[in-house]
Amino acid sequence: MPSGFLAAAYIAASILFILSLGGLSHQERARRGNIYGIAGMAIAIVATVSSDQVSNLGLVMVLMLIGASAGIYVALKVQMTEMPELVAILHSFVGLAAVMVGFANYVDPSVHFEGVEKTIHDVEIYLGILIGAVTFTGSVIAFGKLRGLIMSKPLLIPARHFINLAGGLACIWLGAWFLDAGSVGAGLFPLIIMSIIAFAFGVHMVMAIGGADMPVVISMLNSYSGWAAAATGFMLSNDLLIVTGALVGSSGAILSYIMCRAMNRRFVAVIMGGFGTAGGTTSSAAEAGEVQAASAEEVAEMLKNAKEVVIVPGYGMAVAQAQHAVSSVTTKLREAGVNVRFGIHPVAGRMPGHMNVLLAEARVPYDIVLEMDEINHDLPNTDVALVIGANDIVNPAAQEDPDSPIAGMPVLEVWKAGTVVMSKRSMAAGYAGVDNPLFYKENTRMLFGDAKDSVETILKSIT
Ligand code: NDP
Repeated sequence: MPSGFLAAAYIAASILFILSLGGLSHQERARRGNIYGIAGMAIAIVATVSSDQVSNLGLVMVLMLIGASAGIYVALKVQMTEMPELVAILHSFVGLAAVMVGFANYVDPSVHFEGVEKTIHDVEIYLGILIGAVTFTGSVIAFGKLRGLIMSKPLLIPARHFINLAGGLACIWLGAWFLDAGSVGAGLFPLIIMSIIAFAFGVHMVMAIGGADMPVVISMLNSYSGWAAAATGFMLSNDLLIVTGALVGSSGAILSYIMCRAMNRRFVAVIMGGFGTAGGTTSSAAEAGEVQAASAEEVAEMLKNAKEVVIVPGYGMAVAQAQHAVSSVTTKLREAGVNVRFGIHPVAGRMPGHMNVLLAEARVPYDIVLEMDEINHDLPNTDVALVIGANDIVNPAAQEDPDSPIAGMPVLEVWKAGTVVMSKRSMAAGYAGVDNPLFYKENTRMLFGDAKDSVETILKSIT
């Protein structure tokens, strides 16, 4: 493909990626945003594969076939609740690719630069491998935590800040050594040692982060994977990879900032780890008092008699796949004149926008799905707050207990409603592992059981 066509294809793909990001920022345009993204990626792949840079087309085709088959298999098999883990493991691939491309590029005898250009190229390689290695192991640990293979509680080894600082300084020193090395043989040693430190740092960084702060980590690793891809683009002199990596890197950074604000955390403090440790859990069940259970039929009666209902979905709704039943209950109640709205916490579920996706899939109208900040002040005027499989995001300990691991995190203040109904299977804690005093409040009714079964029974009782 002539270089002019390649440049034009890359510009078209970049514009489509930007349109895609713009589309994904709003639910109603999200589908279109996805289509732009798919079109941009298709153009990017076709243009790159047919460019002069590809010398062994047969091998590239075979590898693409293997990768595409694995991708199709995983995409067909993955459950909605497993999406966050999938995203985490995909980030790890980007990181690993950056490390591999970095080493391959460094030892490739056909890549030859002199003087300042060589220094710049070496810095690109060094940074690409460094960011890629942290992204790789950090994402693998995040995958393990989200999948429940690794405990979500933070692992706090003594002198951890000192270890991080020592690792950072060692990487700077090794970087100077690497840039001074006269030959590939001499440069490989500091490069390998730095990679080992960066791999270890990725593990340590994510292990030290408590369960409730994982949303920030996910979006931060998303951002890192973008910067790793951009660094790979610099190494390979591929403009599209630089642009795409920068788009992912900067949008991930903005998302991390939004997540931090939503959870009232400082970004640096989250990265330094250690949240989710203070003071252990809140008061025990014995101290907290008795819980009051209600049957699904009783809850149906409450809902029918209410004027204002706010539904707060959480991770359990995704596990139970209760969104369609919830949507049907909403329709029935609205037909009966009840004003039903949804309150969405920014970190509900296990990935940003998790609840919005489920509700959109179940065709809940967008205009009754409100953000936490939009609905919180209406909760005191709400007759029934129906909490479906949510826990941490409605935990009053965040406001009432300064020693709580989630202290300071904004929550949906459902306890201010006339009655709160908590649909969950047991008294178990949520992702952050913190007891919830809401269960014991006088106006709370526990609706025990799988959320889908409970909501389907409610549906039968109101029709
Ligand atoms: P939580 O994890 O706090 O609580 C979910 C609740 O759902 C559990 O207490 C569980 O109780 C219940 N549940 C599970 N399965 C079912 C079922 N089949 N039927 C009914 N209930 C069920 O979820 P939240 O959405 O309230 O909070 C999200 C948490 O995840 C926060 O701590 C957040 O920081 C974290 N997180 C969020 C990410 C994001 O980007 N959104 C990413 C990573 C972590 P029981 O077992 O008793 O049924």
